[in-house]
Amino acid sequence: MTRLYDSRKRILVTGGAGFLGSHLIDRLIADGHDVLCVDNLFTGTKQNIDHLCSHPRFEFIRHDVTFPLYVEVDEIYNLACPASPIHYQHDPVQTTKTSVHGAINMLGLAKRLRCRILQASTSEVYGDPEVHPQAENYWGRVNPIGLRSCYDEGKRCAETLFFDYHRQHDLEIKVARIFNTYGPRMHPADGRVVSNFVMQALKGEPITIYGTGNQTRSFCYVEDLIDGLVKLMESPGDFTGPVNLGNPEEFAIRELAERVIELTGTRAGLTSAPLPADDPRQRCPDITLARTKLDWLPKTSLAQGLPRTIAYFRAVLTERGADDLNDWSYRPALPTAMGIRQGT
Ligand code: NAD
Ligand code: UDP
Ligand code: UDP
Repeated sequence: MTRLYDSRKRILVTGGAGFLGSHLIDRLIADGHDVLCVDNLFTGTKQNIDHLCSHPRFEFIRHDVTFPLYVEVDEIYNLACPASPIHYQHDPVQTTKTSVHGAINMLGLAKRLRCRILQASTSEVYGDPEVHPQAENYWGRVNPIGLRSCYDEGKRCAETLFFDYHRQHDLEIKVARIFNTYGPRMHPADGRVVSNFVMQALKGEPITIYGTGNQTRSFCYVEDLIDGLVKLMESPGDFTGPVNLGNPEEFAIRELAERVIELTGTRAGLTSAPLPADDPRQRCPDITLARTKLDWLPKTSLAQGLPRTIAYFRAVLTERGADDLNDWSYRPALPTAMGIRQGT
């Protein structure tokens, strides 16, 4: 439903051409807001926002958030940062700069404008956890010098900056700790587990299980996650988070593979590969805080979200064929009837 004009805001979404960012923008446009998307197109693509480009309430600026940005907005969602391990480890120094310098610049912008700012943090701040499920008061177990550290420590430092700007400059902040999220518009070649398994199954290739496959993750459908981010942004000013946003249904990676096999009917089976360094053994959010403070609960089970995601990747394969998909810059138009809102 479109909002009344007087509640319309100008909203900046950094990382808006990425997987989560583009869905967030669809939602904000559908809610009647003006959206400024800022992205350097490192892992995001113009195809993700193509459908918005002629929209009168949408604007795009190609810009790297590690450099200062002077614009006028009422609210900021800071999502800019590669999220898949193969992407964030490709140029780890740039990943840390994006999290840290990017946060400083966006916080400086929010400070000048006296506007609310939300940070897309991550369950990776808990590292390889000794506490299960993870609640927000757990401080985590993170290797500071490993291959994942550019992302984990970058995001931890960004949280520190958000809380210091809040305490020192009285800035209104919101920090979301996002757990594994999946759905249409994930890049088919981004290396994350859902896209890998589904693409392998659809191409008739064996599914690659890293390590034993007994490590666990919990998977949140994208639409639920976006709903959580918007609820957090709109929550009372004294609620800063950090707050976990994720689906508490926990699955062993091997179980995810079995579900993909069942839903796609692939006969290619499983193959094993070495477990990446510092791969967390288990991960599941305690979402009590989100439930009580935001009245938020994920509504989409894996049994509902996985078939929609498989349908999306099937459409991608039909559209482009298997050989074209390893290019990071390729992203298909979102097929209709995916249960995902396009901009109005
Ligand atoms: P994504 O890679 O699809 O999107 C990230 C976007 O940020 C891309 O469009 C990329 O081009 C842009 N970007 C990267 N560096 C930039 C820079 N220096 N300046 C401007 N733009 C830049 O990933 P995603 O899954 O959409 O993740 C979005 C955010 O959510 C990230 O901050 C990520 O850390 C966080 N997050 C995502 C998940 C998940 O499961 N998807 C889980 C935890 C946290
Ligand atoms: N900044 C920005 N846009 C603005 C205001 C600030 O990009 O509208 C950046 C600028 O690079 C600055 C950083 O945010 O260095 C932090 O700003 P802050 O005011 O906190 O500190 P400063 O470095 O200006 O003392
Ligand atoms: N994984 C896997 N096979 C793949 C890709 C990932 O077994 O082809 C495993 C990976 O080792 C990890 C889990 O799936 O244990 C989730 O990986 P992903 O990269 O999606 O996200 P993470 O939660 O590790 O950041």
